[in-house]
Amino acid sequence: MLNDTIAAIATPIATSGIGIVRISGEDAFQIISNIFKSHKEKKSIVKQKSHTIHYGFIREKENVVDEVLVSIMKAPNTFTRENVVEINCHGGIVVMKKILNIVLDNGARLAEPGEFTKRAFLNGRIDLSQAEAVIDLINAKTDLSLKSSVNQLEGSIKNKIEPLRHKVLEIIAHLEASIDYPEYDIDEMEDDKLKEDLNVMIKALINLLNTADYGKILREGLKTIIIGKPNVGKSSLMNVLLREERAIVTDIPGTTRDTLEEFVNINGIPLNIIDTAGIRDTNDIIEKMGVEKSRNYIEQGDLIILVLDGSKDIDEEDKKIIDLVKNKETIVLINKSDLDLKLDVVALKAYINKPIINISAKKHEGIDAIEKAINELFFKGQIDFNDDIYITNIRHKNALSESIKSLEKAIESINMNMPEDCIVIDLKSGYEKLGEIVGDAMNDDIIDQIFSQFCLGK
Ligand code: GDP
Ligand code: ZN
Repeated sequence: MLNDTIAAIATPIATSGIGIVRISGEDAFQIISNIFKSHKEKKSIVKQKSHTIHYGFIREKENVVDEVLVSIMKAPNTFTRENVVEINCHGGIVVMKKILNIVLDNGARLAEPGEFTKRAFLNGRIDLSQAEAVIDLINAKTDLSLKSSVNQLEGSIKNKIEPLRHKVLEIIAHLEASIDYPEYDIDEMEDDKLKEDLNVMIKALINLLNTADYGKILREGLKTIIIGKPNVGKSSLMNVLLREERAIVTDIPGTTRDTLEEFVNINGIPLNIIDTAGIRDTNDIIEKMGVEKSRNYIEQGDLIILVLDGSKDIDEEDKKIIDLVKNKETIVLINKSDLDLKLDVVALKAYINKPIINISAKKHEGIDAIEKAINELFFKGQIDFNDDIYITNIRHKNALSESIKSLEKAIESINMNMPEDCIVIDLKSGYEKLGEIVGDAMNDDIIDQIFSQFCLGK
């Protein structure tokens, strides 16, 4: 499989200024020399220097198909570590497909989704966590998630995991030596020293695992539910958030048919505001869905924004809604602060112990305070993603907690004075779990599954 030459359209299959057909593999240069005619160069394109761009025409038999720029990149300093050719053609759907077909007719095979990146991985240019970062980078919805995936692409996860793995391996080697050569007195690792080393490692892994909560927020956004009685100002708030914060507004079909998600980027914190069909118009989910259904709905939220109308006092209906959110991360907004305050704030505070913020959706006041409150709730007041690593990938998260369990089991085995080979079994399993993160000795099915999440041409 790895020996053949693959090709795909690397840009969206839609009308655009430029389209790119990418070819990777042994025959990439032969294929391009068959179909490309330079504007003026006499030497065949195959003989040109690597990492250069050439102007000319793609031809099918004697017919010119398109005017193009062709980049040629010789292995191994390429994305896949193979010979790579990129044809920059005009971005019309028909012309891109035509050029791709000519490339395929000349001996390339259509690439599977993610196959270019998969080759980069299989050829050892990047590890699995870096390959996964490519997907995250493409899908990044906020600056923070972009930054996190760029760090991961540069090897931040690998650089953290590899030294730890190496240490586990050292301990295994040490223990195995003392099993295999009991007659030599290899400065036998004291149990206490061994346990201490393992505890240091476990602590480092737990710290990494703990970043997964932030990582999930980075990746998926904070699932946010705006809730409140009719006419308190939920839609107005939503509109302020969407408009004011220069949101990247995308409609992503959700899990249920009538649920939409809207992404709002609040100071880099991605809010994923769940909007049932109609919450923005009729917007009374309590009334619309009934208390029981609303409760389920609220359950799924990471953050509840409860809106009250400050120009009226709270009533039984408000209280019913407040009761639903008491166990959730909630920010209470007293809206319409531009009007006379009739709401009894002291009584409200007695009724619900949550951050309370006065805003006016109409006058766009208090929005900063909402941002601050979200920051306090979820990032303990300091959101600082500088050089830190965040586990954003559920696969990494699971592998981390499995490896922690194995190392903890190893300590238990030591405490129970188990023979060394039992301890080694636990350590080996911890080592393997860590290896899964970087993609060492991975099962082919899992690798295929991971790369199938990519889009075509990547
Ligand atoms: P929803 O039913 O909770 O979505 O409430 P809407 O956003 O549709 O607002 C209901 C009414 O309250 C509309 O007439 C809004 O113009 C008004 N409203 C919303 N926010 C404010 C505010 O901050 N101040 C004032 N004075 N009126 C507001
Ligand atoms: Zn509304």
